[in-house]
Amino acid sequence: MSVSAVFRCMDSRLNGRFGDWLRGKGFESSDMISITGSTLAIAQGSIWLPWRWSLWMEKVVLMRQLHLAVQLHGVTIIVVAHHSTCGAYARRHCFSSFKKEKEKQLADMKKTKKIINRKFPGLTVMLVWTELQDNDGKNVCFSVIE
Ligand SMILES: [Zn+2]
Repeated sequence: MSVSAVFRCMDSRLNGRFGDWLRGKGFESSDMISITGSTLAIAQGSIWLPWRWSLWMEKVVLMRQLHLAVQLHGVTIIVVAHHSTCGAYARRHCFSSFKKEKEKQLADMKKTKKIINRKFPGLTVMLVWTELQDNDGKNVCFSVIE
């Protein structure tokens, strides 16, 4: 079995169903890298600007965590999971619709995949969109984007 790691948002609404989904896919023993916005900082934290230092720092931390997961645990698969109605995205963007939020997050997930593939060419990156159907995370739909 392959060794995996997961990038996910820290949002507690993902705790139950997301874990079930991971178990169903054989990722139950994954290293968990959990931070608000999942990989928002990897996708958007590329430019060093004084007013964006926290995003840049989060990117450094996330890439360091992935590096350690690969180096120490031999991770070969990374699951990049984002979710709808994410507070981290709502803080940075004013989406006019759910569709716009999803488009932005999918674009960020694909950008994240390119960045990870450049840094870790042998790693398989799986992108997972998690759509919350209610406010407490009981009804959730998962889509593997790539
Ligand atoms: Zn979130």
